[in-house]
Amino acid sequence: MPVLVFIEFTNGKINESSCQATTLANGQGDEVYGVTTSTDKNYNSTLGLKGFDKIFMINDFKNIECLSKIILDHDIKIIISPGSDLFREISSLISISHKFSIVSNVKKILDHKTAITTVYTGKVESEVNVINEKIIYLINKNIIESDTYDKNTDIIKIESKNLRINYEILEETKIDHDISLSDADIVVSAGRGLKGPENWKMIEDLAKKLHAATACSKPVSDAGWRSHHEHVGQTGLKISPKIYFAIGISGAIQHLAGVNSSKIIIVINNDPDAPFFKSADYGIVGDAFEIIPKILKALN
Ligand SMILES: Cc1cc2nc3c(=O)[nH]c(=O)nc-3n(C[C@H](O)[C@H](O)[C@H](O)COP(=O)(O)OP(=O)(O)OC[C@H]3O[C@@H](n4cnc5c(N)ncnc54)[C@H](O)[C@@H]3O)c2cc1C
Repeated sequence: MPVLVFIEFTNGKINESSCQATTLANGQGDEVYGVTTSTDKNYNSTLGLKGFDKIFMINDFKNIECLSKIILDHDIKIIISPGSDLFREISSLISISHKFSIVSNVKKILDHKTAITTVYTGKVESEVNVINEKIIYLINKNIIESDTYDKNTDIIKIESKNLRINYEILEETKIDHDISLSDADIVVSAGRGLKGPENWKMIEDLAKKLHAATACSKPVSDAGWRSHHEHVGQTGLKISPKIYFAIGISGAIQHLAGVNSSKIIIVINNDPDAPFFKSADYGIVGDAFEIIPKILKALN
């Protein structure tokens, strides 16, 4: 029984979550098929893509007709996917069309029908046994190290004349940063301790030096200091980078809810009693306006 993986490309490269989904799929001992919309001509030589027996190239994930053809022609019962916004949406469309169950926040797949998931913003693990035969597993980011493979991959183009795309793009705006917050390995985040939007240059400089994405606390985006897409937490984006810098952020429970699955948390705060220090792997007590320039100087 083949396992199908949804492959996502970021800046022309298969992203880390898709590589991890591929590693999980290969761990199931079946043939692994991938589906992607990338038109990258080098897809065949991209390391992360060597873990597939077949790759289906489609025009658009939202063209459910193409995905349906793959699912029906190959009797797909298990799909493993990054838990990104796009694939959450696609999964719900497939779930309705083909009666798949969706299991989200997956940390580990034990066998075809059993997985370990995280609940309560990562504080609790639960073992889920799915009754349905057809399952979509949406995985958390950074749950495992991804492996590399050297399979001979068949690339199959699925064309559809009758594109049943259920949306229309009215306007596209390029966001002015290369690294997406959801995919970033390192995130430099700042809060109200920065005093005002004019002080974010040092945060952006630090992020640039570290090849990181920038993020912020809710009051910062509410005040319009930063754009809402940078807001992390209970009511914002939930992220799990390898390193999360929290600069001038108090560490309220609602903020932690979005970032506490980060592998390493580094807190910079001038208040030694700031709650964030309790969740920190490393902490610096001090004024961000003195410390960040020193870090930047050391990195130069
Ligand atoms: C229903 C609900 C949902 C919420 N959802 C979210 C959410 O999704 N995300 C979120 O972030 N918040 C959320 N909040 C708000 C949350 O409760 C906090 O109010 C918020 O996270 C605080 O933001 P902050 O840490 O930037 O600011 P503050 O609480 O004002 O903290 C600023 C910190 O900066 C430090 N500081 C000050 N000056 C300096 C300096 N010079 N150098 C270093 N440190 C300095 C201070 O010691 C302090 O710890 C939510 C609240 C509610 C009620």
